Amino acid sequence: ASRSAGRMVKETIRVYARVKPLGRRQQAGIYSVDNDEKSLSSLEIIMPHDLADGFVNNKRERYKFKFQKIFDQEAKQDVVFDSIAKPVAECVLAGYNGTIFAYGQTGSGKTFTITGGAERYSDRGIIPRTLSYIFDQLQKDSSKVYTTHVSYLEIYNECGYDLLDPRHEASRLEDLPKVAIMEDPDQNIHLKNLSLQQATNEEEALNLLFLGDTNRMIAETPMNQASTRSHCIFTIHLSSKEPGSATIRRSKLHLVDLAGSERVAKTGVGGHLLTEAKYINLSLHYLEQVIIALAEKNRSHIPYRNSMMTSVLRDSLGGNCMTTMIATLSIDKRNIDESISTCRFAQRVALIKNEAVLNEEIDPRLMIVQLKKEIQELKDELALVTGKQRTSELSQEELLQLDELIETFLEDNDPDSTLNVGADMRKIKYCFIHVKQLMNHSRISDKKLLSQHTSEEKDTNKEAGEEELKKLKELLQQRDNEINILVNMLKKEKKKAQDALFQLKAASAASAVLEQSLSINLEERQNPSSCFSLKEAKDFNSSVHRLPFLSRQTGGKMSLGCQEAFEVFKQDRADNITIENNKQLLKQRFTEAKCLGEKLNEVRNKINHLKGEITQRHIQRAALAVSCPSEEPNMLDPVEEKLRMQIEEEKKSYKTMFNRLKGLKVEIEHLQLLMEKVKMKLQKDFEVWWSEEVINLQ
Ligand code: ADP
Ligand code: MG
Repeated sequence: ASRSAGRMVKETIRVYARVKPLGRRQQAGIYSVDNDEKSLSSLEIIMPHDLADGFVNNKRERYKFKFQKIFDQEAKQDVVFDSIAKPVAECVLAGYNGTIFAYGQTGSGKTFTITGGAERYSDRGIIPRTLSYIFDQLQKDSSKVYTTHVSYLEIYNECGYDLLDPRHEASRLEDLPKVAIMEDPDQNIHLKNLSLQQATNEEEALNLLFLGDTNRMIAETPMNQASTRSHCIFTIHLSSKEPGSATIRRSKLHLVDLAGSERVAKTGVGGHLLTEAKYINLSLHYLEQVIIALAEKNRSHIPYRNSMMTSVLRDSLGGNCMTTMIATLSIDKRNIDESISTCRFAQRVALIKNEAVLNEEIDPRLMIVQLKKEIQELKDELALVTGKQRTSELSQEELLQLDELIETFLEDNDPDSTLNVGADMRKIKYCFIHVKQLMNHSRISDKKLLSQHTSEEKDTNKEAGEEELKKLKELLQQRDNEINILVNMLKKEKKKAQDALFQLKAASAASAVLEQSLSINLEERQNPSSCFSLKEAKDFNSSVHRLPFLSRQTGGKMSLGCQEAFEVFKQDRADNITIENNKQLLKQRFTEAKCLGEKLNEVRNKINHLKGEITQRHIQRAALAVSCPSEEPNMLDPVEEKLRMQIEEEKKSYKTMFNRLKGLKVEIEHLQLLMEKVKMKLQKDFEVWWSEEVINLQ
């Protein structure tokens, strides 16, 4: 397709910073934010003495970085969306490409910023808010026809996976469809196997986002740690066309959650964390190389091809795209050095200039219509020039002659033999059809032969019996395991009760040491993933292949024993509290929605009633005009005016309520999806725990 470079926007990548709120146990690092309304804002980080003192080298104490804007700990999601994502979404609506990527160490708030928190509706992040905004705008603009698709790609270890696989059965990342990179002769990147799912409204798009997040969560195992080691790219593909026009605008918005940027010190060097540290994630190292190359003035070669992620994001980095970066920072004392690294990276990114081009193409369908017309005109011209018109059909005799010619041609073993039927298009076409028929015929007879073979090989009666026996044995083993796990659980519950008593006694003794050890215990219990030692994790990982999903294995239903254990398991989980809280909230919202619906009905009835009164009024006035023709007939009726004003008022309140109801509906759907996700996670955690128990039994 031809691409006309309409308008072009040259702009450096916009770089923002967001500081995550401190955790309860975290000690604040020293930093200050100077948000200047007119120019760039600055962030100053001060290296604490106890960290800096250990180095003899000339380490600085104060570091100052410039950002477009800095969002400090208390910044809320809606503010972040308004200042960072909304301008990008507007560009995308206008036909430019856009990218927003979050960069920072694990735990600094990348996922929170890009996707959102898993508990509250108000915590939803840039992706759901952008979807909501875009669909709102599309609805308002009736001058164009829009189509929206989304895709969701995860890159882990240089492999791409399609997270929107509708089969929804992946229990391992490897089960998801693999996505490959293809480069066309014009050096454009295409992603083979990445599905583009159409979303016609906000709800459909949100469902796809949650499908992807769920697939991502299920496919993660303690070993692959996909959420910190992988990159996720959610893309909104937009195309728009004015009715009747031949030009289409296409644009893409990438919303990117990068892998954790944490580094490790090069072994043997020790200490020089800020200068010698290496990325844990190799592709982030390649990303940095691309950034460095782009920031240098006279570099002609940019090493995009070194990693899949830099290839996919090539246009976002130094290409046709409006790009924005969010540096996420965990600014507590222990993470000061990582925060400084993140800021340094951000300063380099801020030097890169992109050239965003309005993406307009000619509609190929219109082109085809035009070309067809041209062909017809040329044909007419040709007929005129040659004076012949070959529209009559071939005669029987001519057909027989052709059949003979084809037969001799096919039987001739000479590789140089040719089939010559002259310059008659009708004859040439006939030959092709004939050959096609012959080919199809021979293929069908091949297939028949093949299917005969396979039916002969089938003798499965005996095998089926053995299979059945094996299944029963497995089931028996499964039941044994269940019983043992339940017994263990029972013992533990008993022990817990004893422990509680013991702790109570210990607390009264108020020993500081004991308190400390207890709090460590508690922390471990709150964070189930840290319970895996490396070896256990490995063992578990290999067992995952055999025990993918307990509930699925038994045809979508858990066995009774398993269910029982799940109930106990659930009880002291924080996730379960989230579910219960959200259930309450959902109930409230439902009642609110119902109430609003009823009120809406009332208002509608009121409006209808008022309208009826106006009609009554008209009838009365008409009757009056007949009986007293002297009265001025066109005089304004004050009563009717008042009624009309009342109707307007009611309509206004109808509209406000309707919008509120619409908002409630989106919130309810979102809450339902959040709960679904937490439930899934709970089940997955349980399954991990369960298979671990089974292994311990063996
Ligand atoms: P990352 O994706 O960078 O590893 P997360 O987004 O998962 O980090 O954040 C780690 C934890 O901190 C999560 O529990 C998240 O909910 C919480 N968190 C992150 N940023 C914020 C914020 N701005 N406000 C409240 N909680 C946050
Ligand atoms: Mg994350």
